Amino acid sequence: MIEAVAVIASAGTAMLLPVSGADWARFGVLAVGAAIYIELTRSIERQREFVAGAGPYVDTKSVWSFAAVLVCPPALATLMVVFTYALAWFRIWPRRRPSPLYRWIFSAATVLCGTQLAVAVLHLGMSHYPGIPSAQLPAGIIDVGIVALAGLARFAANYGLVIVAALMASPDLKLAKLMETFGEQSLEAAALGLGLVAATLVTLQPVVLVGVVIALVALHRCVLLAQFRQAARIDAKTGLYASGWWPQLAERALDRAKVRGTGLAVLMLDLDHFKDVNTNFGHLGGDEALRAVAREIAAETRDYDMTGRFGGEEFIVFLPEVDTSEVHRIAERIRRRIHGLAIPNGASDEPITGLTISIGAAIYPDEGIATLDDLIRAADKALLLAKDSGRNQTRIANTF
Ligand code: GH3
Ligand code: MG
Ligand code: MG
Repeated sequence: MIEAVAVIASAGTAMLLPVSGADWARFGVLAVGAAIYIELTRSIERQREFVAGAGPYVDTKSVWSFAAVLVCPPALATLMVVFTYALAWFRIWPRRRPSPLYRWIFSAATVLCGTQLAVAVLHLGMSHYPGIPSAQLPAGIIDVGIVALAGLARFAANYGLVIVAALMASPDLKLAKLMETFGEQSLEAAALGLGLVAATLVTLQPVVLVGVVIALVALHRCVLLAQFRQAARIDAKTGLYASGWWPQLAERALDRAKVRGTGLAVLMLDLDHFKDVNTNFGHLGGDEALRAVAREIAAETRDYDMTGRFGGEEFIVFLPEVDTSEVHRIAERIRRRIHGLAIPNGASDEPITGLTISIGAAIYPDEGIATLDDLIRAADKALLLAKDSGRNQTRIANTF
């Protein structure tokens, strides 16, 4: 459906203007820029598709197709979208393609619809179309406004169509879930802004486009690597700090405690008889329980406390600057809170209830506790004792 609209709209706008030799030359330069850019960002793009969320995909290739919309006739603007999408399809995933061809075609079609909308805005508003903003004032300022409007129209059409299609394909997907990546879309805005710069350069001084390629590749790397790093720090299942990350935070907290002479407590938590939850409610039900427990721990602790996932159904909480006489009370509060949970789940109409948890705690400073390993080992030992003493209780190291 959207594909058909894209084809008809593209054919319609293609009739608007003829294509000259100079247009082909500009198209050629932008196409070379796009090809180099796609080559240089291939390895990151390959990973991105696999970690992408449900929301619209941030497409930095739009620098080139947006530049083409500005300075080439509509037929070549359309061709640039097709060219960049085809090149990415063949170059980024030559063998193991993560998404089926129809999804890519759909994605290209939404961009084409956005592109034709941008063509309409530019055609109606620009003092020269196709072309870059006028060097005269105030016409130039108005032109820049029109370009911004065209960029917005392109983005809105593309983003809106992807959201609507995703909602139609799976109505139970929450709109909020799809909008999760909205923040990332600022990268799309950067791409469109650089598209305007690229359009100007290809008209006035094409060799300087090298600068755009460098800026774009660097931007792409910085933003996406930061995203990957962030993703690696958070445990996907529970949203807590992942085991590759909380030890670093804990080391820092311990250093601060040593410098300031304050206390740092650690709680090790292990759900009791969790295998039974999996047996009764399935592993998906078990996962719901883990998420709920994670939420309760986070809710019961302070903003600057740190909760991580230690392993399967084991959690670890660091409580900096804690009054050591309070630790037992805090742990008990968490334990009671988890016991009171009623967790809705997909496996049964009955909520999961009566969860119990055993907690082992250790405190810095305390006898024999100088390093993070000492702290964790002591808490682990206390946890074992809590288990051995009948579960559903808190034990504190060096008090037994
Ligand atoms: P205990 O009281 O001695 O701790 O009993 P337990 O059943 O909790 O025993 P144990 O801690 O040894 O077992 C942990 C169970 O947690 C085994 C495993 O199937 C389950 N588990 C670990 N990670 C996950 C997970 O991510 N999701 C689900 N659903 N289950 C998990
Ligand atoms: Mg357990
Ligand atoms: Mg366990």
